[in-house]
Amino acid sequence: MSGFSPDTTRLPDRRRPTGGLLSIVIPCHNEAAVIDDTHARLTAVLATTGMDHEIVYVDDGSRDDTLGRLEGIAARDPRVTVIEFARNFGQQAAMSAGLAAARGDAIVITDADLQDPPEVIPEMVRAWRNGADVAYGRRRQRAGETAFKLVTASLYHRLFASLSPYPVPVDTGDFKLLDRAVADAVIALPEKRRYLRGLVPWAGFRHEPVWYDRHPRAAGETKYSPWKLLKLATDALILSSDAPLRLTWVAAAGLAVTGLIATTIATLTTWIGPSREQVSLAALTAIASLVATVPTVAVAIVGEYVARTYREVQGRPTWVIRRTLGRTAEARPTSRAA
Ligand code: UDP
Ligand code: MG
Repeated sequence: MSGFSPDTTRLPDRRRPTGGLLSIVIPCHNEAAVIDDTHARLTAVLATTGMDHEIVYVDDGSRDDTLGRLEGIAARDPRVTVIEFARNFGQQAAMSAGLAAARGDAIVITDADLQDPPEVIPEMVRAWRNGADVAYGRRRQRAGETAFKLVTASLYHRLFASLSPYPVPVDTGDFKLLDRAVADAVIALPEKRRYLRGLVPWAGFRHEPVWYDRHPRAAGETKYSPWKLLKLATDALILSSDAPLRLTWVAAAGLAVTGLIATTIATLTTWIGPSREQVSLAALTAIASLVATVPTVAVAIVGEYVARTYREVQGRPTWVIRRTLGRTAEARPTSRAA
């Protein structure tokens, strides 16, 4: 296999020149309540970046009027492209499809709900001009989130970073600017099931944080139930790291040590102590339940990898496009090729 080598002639040692095209990629699932406001606020900010811009909205199988609103936006604004998915393929697929369609020298990925304030984009552009290849939004505050989500997200980000074989920034979502070379490297990856927060750091390049306060959703509701978040978190870990597989070694070692201790206790209590039968029974029960649990969990972990391997081998595309509106309509593929 050959490696990916981007067009490095355009990667700067220091500053990038002014001008160029900035693409904004926005995944949208049931965002009719907010999308017009998002577009208005975004275009007002983009006028201040000193770059031409295009906005790529990806309608990820919305069941509300999101698509109708996006059609209206595309009809009014020639810098808008709308990619309509054939069904709901998920945010990761929507972001990837937008990235593949974007033509900018720099590409910003942002949510549709104004939780990532568009006003941060000019700062990202400045960081990029100053030499960063990835300018990622790093969250200082997260207003409007439950304490439960804040704690679990923070713990999860740290767990993910500690298990990842390459450095990944913490307290960071999908809101970031990618240089064309980084976007090309990520688009070129052949894997179907994609977790961009893992893929972008994997590619390397120069990453720089742009600090911001994450706002509450402007309107509508989160599309992530706790169950869907758990699925995303599992995907993220398994797609980015084989550490969970190795955990089975740790579990096996733990089982062996516990078994040894329990057996010792069981043996000793047959010689001493008044209630030796109970103690021996307790020790044996502990061993039996461990013997049953550890291999079951190990098989489940292996199963998660096998399931994902099977999906990759099947080779189905990550998304299917029903229709594309706007100025990139003709030149784009209808699905992500293998
Ligand atoms: N989204 C998507 N497909 C989905 C779920 C979400 O394209 O299946 C989009 C959604 O419209 C939003 C972004 O992904 O632009 C983040 O979703 P959301 O705001 O619901 O997540 P949260 O901010 O609550 O984690
Ligand atoms: Mg949101």
